Amino acid sequence: MCGIVGYTGHREAYPIIIKGLKRLEYRGYDSTGVALNNGSGLNVYKKKGKVAELEEAVIGKDLHAHIGIGHTRWATHGEPSDRNAHPHQSASGKLAMIHNGIIENYTQLKKELISKGYYFESDTDTEVLLNFIEEIRKNNQCDLEEAVRIALKRVTGAYVILLIDEDDPATIIAARKGSPLVIGIGKGEHFLGSDASPMLEYTKEVVYVNDYELAIVKPDELILKNLGNEKLTPYVQKLDLELAAIEKGGYEHFMLKEIVEQPQTIYDCLRGRLDPIEGTITMSGIQQYAEQIMNANRIVIVACGTSWHAGLVAEYIFEELCRINVEVEYASEFRYRNPVINKGDVILAISQSGETADTLVAIENAKSKGAILLGVVNVVGSSIARTSHAGAYTHAGPEIGVASTKAFTAQLAVLTMIALKIGYLKGSIPQERYMNLLNELQQVPEKVAWILKHSAPIKAMAEKYKDARDFLYLGRGYNFPVALEGALKLKEISYIHAEGYPAAEMKHGPIALVDDQLPVVFVATRDAYHEKVMSNMQEIKARKGKLIAVITEGDTATAELCDDYIEVPEADEIVAPMLSVVPLQLLAYYIGVAKELDVDKPRNLAKSVTVE
Ligand code: GLU
Repeated sequence: MCGIVGYTGHREAYPIIIKGLKRLEYRGYDSTGVALNNGSGLNVYKKKGKVAELEEAVIGKDLHAHIGIGHTRWATHGEPSDRNAHPHQSASGKLAMIHNGIIENYTQLKKELISKGYYFESDTDTEVLLNFIEEIRKNNQCDLEEAVRIALKRVTGAYVILLIDEDDPATIIAARKGSPLVIGIGKGEHFLGSDASPMLEYTKEVVYVNDYELAIVKPDELILKNLGNEKLTPYVQKLDLELAAIEKGGYEHFMLKEIVEQPQTIYDCLRGRLDPIEGTITMSGIQQYAEQIMNANRIVIVACGTSWHAGLVAEYIFEELCRINVEVEYASEFRYRNPVINKGDVILAISQSGETADTLVAIENAKSKGAILLGVVNVVGSSIARTSHAGAYTHAGPEIGVASTKAFTAQLAVLTMIALKIGYLKGSIPQERYMNLLNELQQVPEKVAWILKHSAPIKAMAEKYKDARDFLYLGRGYNFPVALEGALKLKEISYIHAEGYPAAEMKHGPIALVDDQLPVVFVATRDAYHEKVMSNMQEIKARKGKLIAVITEGDTATAELCDDYIEVPEADEIVAPMLSVVPLQLLAYYIGVAKELDVDKPRNLAKSVTVE
C-alpha cells in the first residue's frame, strides 16, 4: 500500500512528483503530501484526501525545487488526516521522510524517544522511525546515511523509506525491506517510485532495489549498499512498459478499460505459449520444475482476495487434469499457522502485484522448509517473482483499477496452461481432451470479446438493482469461485453487501435471507452441474427471490426461469470461469457507476497490499 515518489535532478521536482503520485494513487489515497528542498529550507505540504486535493491546497505556495519526495497514503497507524499524512518532519525540522509499510516495534521505540524528551505530531509509526534516525544521528555524530543504517538494524516490520535533509539539497536516502522500490536512471537525474510508472516518460533504465538495501541517490550518482555498508553494483534493467498502458485511453474509468482489455490481455497471456496445432504449451519456468510438480504429493496455493479466487478455480482444474491433491490457503492464515510443509511440496503463490505482503512472507517461510515455489504474478521483477524458484507471468499489463479484473482472467489463463502442461506430461489427461482444451483455451479471447459486444443489457440491470441492500451470488463446481469473485467485485465497487456461496450449500443457511427484495445471481452456464443448479434456482424462485443468471447462449430453459439473464458463449467448463466472470465484473462496475461512486478508488481499499 501507499505510493511513494522521489526526484533529484535538474528539472522542477514538484510536477514530476504530482504526476507520479497520480499514477500511484491506486496504492492508497487517504492523504497526499510532498516535501521539497529549494536550497533554503524544506517546504512540506500535505493534506487529507486525494492528490487533486493537495494540488488545490498548494496553489500560490512556493513549489520551486529540484529535489523532492511525495506520498499517497493508505493509513495503517492513525486515521487519515492532515496531521498523519506524509511526509513527516523530524523534531528538529531538518529531515523529511515518507514511508510505505509498518514499523512493528514502533511502540517500543516511541517509548524510548519520549523518555528522551521527544513528542510526536502524528499517530504514525513513520514519525517514530524518523525521530529515531534523527536521535541516532545526533547521538552518534554520524551522517544521515549511517544513522539510517543503524536505525534499520533495530527496526522490525516492512518499509520503503525516502528521506531528504534540509542541509543537503541534492541527496535522497532510500531503503527497502518488504515494500517495492524502483529507481529510474536519467541523465543527471534520478527518479524513485513504488513502481516504474512515475518515471516512464523520462527513462527506460531502472534498478529494482532489494530488501535490506540502502540507496544514496544524487542527480549524477546512485550508490547502492547493504546494511553492512558494503557497496553493491546496481543491476540496471530495461523497462518494457509504455506510457499508453497506464493511461485511461478514452475510457471513463480504468476499471472499464481493464474489463474491456481482457480479450487482448488473455490473448497476450496465451501468445507464444499455447500452440493448439502442435499440441504444445511452452512455459520454460514450469518446464524446469515439471518433474517435481508432477510428482508432488500436493500443491498448496497461497493467495489473497481475487487471486485466492483464481486459486480456487485452479484447485478444481489441477485436481481434474493432474490428479494432484490441491489445497488453497489464505496467505495470511497459512503463514501464521505453522503449517506442515514437507520437502517436495509445491507452493504456488498467486498475486497481481507480486508484492502482496502476506503471500510473500508465506512463501518465504515455505521456501525455508524445502518447498518448491512457483509464482503466478503480473508485475515483472516483483518480489514474489524474485523469491520463487520458477513461475509464469500473466502479462496482463498494468492494472490500475483497484478492483482486480483483467489480472484475474489472466491468472486463470496461466493456471489452466500450467495444469494442462503438467497433466499432459504426467499422462493424466486423455490426448483428445488435451487437444480439445488447447483449442478451447485458444478461443477464450474471442468469446470474451463476444460477451463485451453483447453487454449492453447489463447497464440497464445495474439501474434496476442498484438500490438493493444485499446480493447473493451462487454457483457450483468451477463456477463456485466465480460466484465468490462476483460478490467480491460488487462489495468492493458498490459497497452493497454481497455473499458468494456454493449453490447447494445455500440451503444450509443463506436461504433464510431470501425474500422478494433479494437479488440472487446464479452463475449457471451449461456444465456437469447444470441440472442441479437449475433446481437451486427453482428453490430461490419459490421463495420469490429476484433471479439473475449468467447462462450459456441459447439456453432458453434457464433464461425462462430468470428475472434477468446475461448470455456467454458455450465453452468447456474448465475455461468457463474466464467467460462467466466478465458479466459479473460489468454488473459490479455499472452498479458502482449508477451509485456515482469512485469505482477506480473504492473507499478503504488499495491495490498491492504491502502490509500484513
Ligand atoms: N504506516 C504508515 C502510516 O500509517 C505508512 C502506511 C502506508 O504504507 O501508506 O502512515
